[in-house]
Amino acid sequence: MNMKEYIDEAEAALLHTYNRYQIVWDRGDGMYLYDIAGKKYLDFVAGIAVFALGYNNKAYNDALKAQIDKVIHTSNYYYNIPAIEAAKKLKKISGMDRIFFTNSGAEAVEGALKAARKYAFLRDSHTNHDIIAMNHSFHGRTMGALSVTGNVHYREAFEPLIGNVKFADFNNFESVKAQVTDKTCAIIFETVQGEGGIYPATEAFIKQVRALCDERDILLILDEIQCGMGRTGTMFAWQQYGVKPDIMTSAKAIGCGVPVGAFLMTEKVAQQSLTSGDHGTTYGGNPLACTAISKVIDLFEEQRILENVKETGAYLYKKLDELAVKYDCIKAHRGVGLMQGLECDVPVNEIINEAIAKGLLLINAGANIIRFIPPLIVSKADVDNMIEIIDACFAKL
Ligand SMILES: *Cc1c(COP(=O)(O)O)cnc(C)c1O
Repeated sequence: MNMKEYIDEAEAALLHTYNRYQIVWDRGDGMYLYDIAGKKYLDFVAGIAVFALGYNNKAYNDALKAQIDKVIHTSNYYYNIPAIEAAKKLKKISGMDRIFFTNSGAEAVEGALKAARKYAFLRDSHTNHDIIAMNHSFHGRTMGALSVTGNVHYREAFEPLIGNVKFADFNNFESVKAQVTDKTCAIIFETVQGEGGIYPATEAFIKQVRALCDERDILLILDEIQCGMGRTGTMFAWQQYGVKPDIMTSAKAIGCGVPVGAFLMTEKVAQQSLTSGDHGTTYGGNPLACTAISKVIDLFEEQRILENVKETGAYLYKKLDELAVKYDCIKAHRGVGLMQGLECDVPVNEIINEAIAKGLLLINAGANIIRFIPPLIVSKADVDNMIEIIDACFAKL
């Protein structure tokens, strides 16, 4: 079948929840994806901040293949070595104390919210606690994660969601403080807002919220699903702020393509929240998924991923700054490490479509922002190639 025939079959069978680009993928290699017609694309999307190690990474593939030949799934009623290894390594890179493995980001957020509610329940033996979340945030599509997602269009049709969620303005401490009461059990935000438009938390904001949480025994939940796993130049973005969350969520690049996530907590929270019978998952933490996590963490170290993020991230920053100076329609440039955005005063879909035609994959974050979230192995030469193409797209439009 050709591309058009495959797409017609897809559109006849899949639920229409995405407006997909008209590409059917065949394979990937390093920074490149190839469609079934053999066309090659430089990838600055990485499956939405997932494929950090680049496609077809041999060491990663071999580790997964070896585990497949041993055992893929057992159950959380038993122990498995990949989960033990993955948990140990995750504790080391995060400094958190206890981990629960999930199958996705949204599920990690669900678990974090449940842990926070249970903590507050044990604190004062009441239910009905409040959670404070941020406007323009994104935490996932399941009912709990959606409840703390600050985008009315995503939530509206699905009300009532979980109750007692209040929204404050990101990077505006006073607006958070104004929502806090004795019933507040958690404050949740992304350390760097992703879908909302690539907005890093300011140091003042994160520190003030942390102090407020300490003062009122409120749990700080940081969502590191997109900005974590090295993307900002440290394993987790919060590690650059001199604060530590009580609970954090991870997913996306943590498994580099195998669907996994996790929520992690401090010992203090672990001792006073979810306990036997409170939470569970059939697949979460299975041997295949945890082999992926474990190997990803090893390869980050072996391939010096963080060093590359810092160096190539800074180079990308300089190059995008130059582009922003060159074109009037670019209103702002933000981001950190290899998580950057260009805000335009026009919808960016035309630019993105033009880039795709020229063999460059880019993705938006909201209608007006182009998001740059390449695999973390990206080189300066790749950045130069990308800039050449996107420059031509801006020039044309
Ligand atoms: C992608 C994302 C999620 C949801 O993860 P899924 O795996 O799609 O459920 C949650 N939070 C943030 C910040 C994300 O970027």
